Amino acid sequence: MLKTLKSFDLKDKRVLIRVDFNVPVEKDLVVDDFRIRAALPTIQHCLNEGAKVILISHLGRPNGIVKEELSLMPAGEKLADLLEMPIKFSNDCISEDAHDVTLGLRSGEVHLLENLRFHIEENKNDQNFSINLAKHGQVFINDAFGTAHRSHASNVGVSKYFNQKGMGFLVEKELEFLDRAMKMPRKPLTVILGGAKIDTKIDLINRFIQIADHIIIGGGMAFTFLKAKGKDVGKSLVDSSMISEAKKILANARGKTNIIFPQDFICAKSMKHKKTSVSNSNEMASDLMGLDIGPKTIDEFSKTIFDSGTILWNGPMGVFEIEGFHHGTQKIAKTIGEVTKNGSTSIVGGGDSAAAIKKFEMTNNFSHISTGGGASLSLLSGNIMPAIYALEL
Ligand code: AMP
Repeated sequence: MLKTLKSFDLKDKRVLIRVDFNVPVEKDLVVDDFRIRAALPTIQHCLNEGAKVILISHLGRPNGIVKEELSLMPAGEKLADLLEMPIKFSNDCISEDAHDVTLGLRSGEVHLLENLRFHIEENKNDQNFSINLAKHGQVFINDAFGTAHRSHASNVGVSKYFNQKGMGFLVEKELEFLDRAMKMPRKPLTVILGGAKIDTKIDLINRFIQIADHIIIGGGMAFTFLKAKGKDVGKSLVDSSMISEAKKILANARGKTNIIFPQDFICAKSMKHKKTSVSNSNEMASDLMGLDIGPKTIDEFSKTIFDSGTILWNGPMGVFEIEGFHHGTQKIAKTIGEVTKNGSTSIVGGGDSAAAIKKFEMTNNFSHISTGGGASLSLLSGNIMPAIYALEL
């Protein structure tokens, strides 16, 4: 059984919460607080219930080395701003001092511990490190969806040492949208995939071939499929090691789901070239690369999206980071936003699609934007998430 936050009596308890404060920091300031805000409902609930809150998180990949630029101190300052109260901070997550501060907490106070990954034992899911982390709490809540696909000390290891453990509101919401809603989607279900890497999305495609009514494939990964279909794709991005896999998917999908590929592309000689042209996907010149979906494709993709009851989107339609190759991603995001307003459910996987939405200032236009890139892909692919499994009683 997986317990939810509301099922615990938290009054005067030390509640150890694994949050995901892996946020971008520049010059000691948090430049995007999306993940900190996403953890607020859980933290606020614990405080309202009279708990003593201890927060643990990683930031970046320090690989066991203390790196000042990867300190969680700026995240702590941002959190204090958002909560409008001072918080306590310890510069080592398992030191005696840190444990003393935790034991001295009063109900309604927050103690943030320094970056877990300053200890290599975190990544190694080390038992002693887990025991030392567990000493901070009487109840363990995991609200770090972004790392739930990994077996680390702060999510899997630590869980063993708690009888009282469960998931926070964010993990509950992510599971609701990425797991439950996908098992009973309002039809038609359309999956939109893009981005550069095809290998990370193979499992997801294979799963959704059985479930989705339409699978739209745009972005750089479309070219590996078009190549597998025998088309000339010029200098466009192709992952040669995935062509046979792409052929298998195409054969497998026959009669099960409708896979839709771009009909035209915005092309250039390279990403740096300002001069662009529109190429039909049947006749791409050998010196060009496709860097965004073209106008006919935007129309066709949009028609399918408009007819959908549920839309799952992972991966940009083009090189959205570069002006001129962002239109496809922006238009598709806008269309998904419009159908969401009309009552369809829209779910956006984390990572680059979430970054694109933020760039276009459309973060409020979707039913759910996942906080986890790799984690959302893993869950959507149908994998068991070790950190969620570890919470089962
Ligand atoms: P991924 O991590 O696989 O979701 O890939 C995201 C990246 O794909 C972004 O940085 C985009 O710039 C890139 N991308 C999208 N479309 C293309 C394309 N047609 N050619 C090359 N890269 C692309």
